[in-house]
Amino acid sequence: MQKLVEKTKRRPPKDKNLKKSIFTSFLYCGDCGHKLWFNFNQKNPSIRFFSCSNYKGMRGTCENTHYIREDALEQIVLMELRMLADFLERAEDEFAELLEQKTNKDMIRERTTAEGALSTARARSKKLLGLFGKLYEDNVEGKVTDEWFMQLSNKYEAEQEELKRQMFELQEKLDKIDQMQTAKDDFLRAIRKFMEMQTLTPILLRELIEKIEVFPVEGKGKDRTQRVIIHYRFVGRLDIPGIIERPHFILDSPQGVAIEYLPNAI
Ligand SMILES: [Zn+2]
Repeated sequence: MQKLVEKTKRRPPKDKNLKKSIFTSFLYCGDCGHKLWFNFNQKNPSIRFFSCSNYKGMRGTCENTHYIREDALEQIVLMELRMLADFLERAEDEFAELLEQKTNKDMIRERTTAEGALSTARARSKKLLGLFGKLYEDNVEGKVTDEWFMQLSNKYEAEQEELKRQMFELQEKLDKIDQMQTAKDDFLRAIRKFMEMQTLTPILLRELIEKIEVFPVEGKGKDRTQRVIIHYRFVGRLDIPGIIERPHFILDSPQGVAIEYLPNAI
């Protein structure tokens, strides 16, 4: 018992003041795909950062820490969202077109196919009911033997069951496509909300972002670069067209973090 108390005492106290990061659930290692863990510098708790939970130095297998500071990340996300918002403002039709391309290319085709298949299945199901009614009447009137009646009605029943299953699946698919359409509208609404607020909130992040991939820092000193890819909900990656001037920011930190937007940098 004594031992247990000692052990508990030795454990570094959990910092109750450590505010959770709003990015925690979005960050993934760009190389190994594991989640990034949130942490803070023990000597300077104001330095809050993320690193790969699978880093080999932490008994994992990932070659690099994928260290990124929370403030740098915040600047990157803010910058990208501002550009998205600007793009929406200056070219609403073009923006809508971009989203259409991302979400609707296969969707329209799929919807048409599913709708066609559903109406065929419905028509066949209706016809089967009619056939069964006719068969029943014929059997009652003695035109069809009991044996033949049994055989045919079993066949109709099996087909009807299969049609029911098909119709259910097709309807589910159509509902899903409809949800995607709504989701696209939600995405636009969320960007507009960001335009008004200009700040990041957990709700807004959830509405807009699916995940953020973080890659290792490359180069040294002034040439340090780090690639971060934002995957948006429902539309995935978006390359914002028409950015000629590359915005460049220097973050107020000892190392100075330069942030640059690289369109099409895949
Ligand atoms: Zn990793």
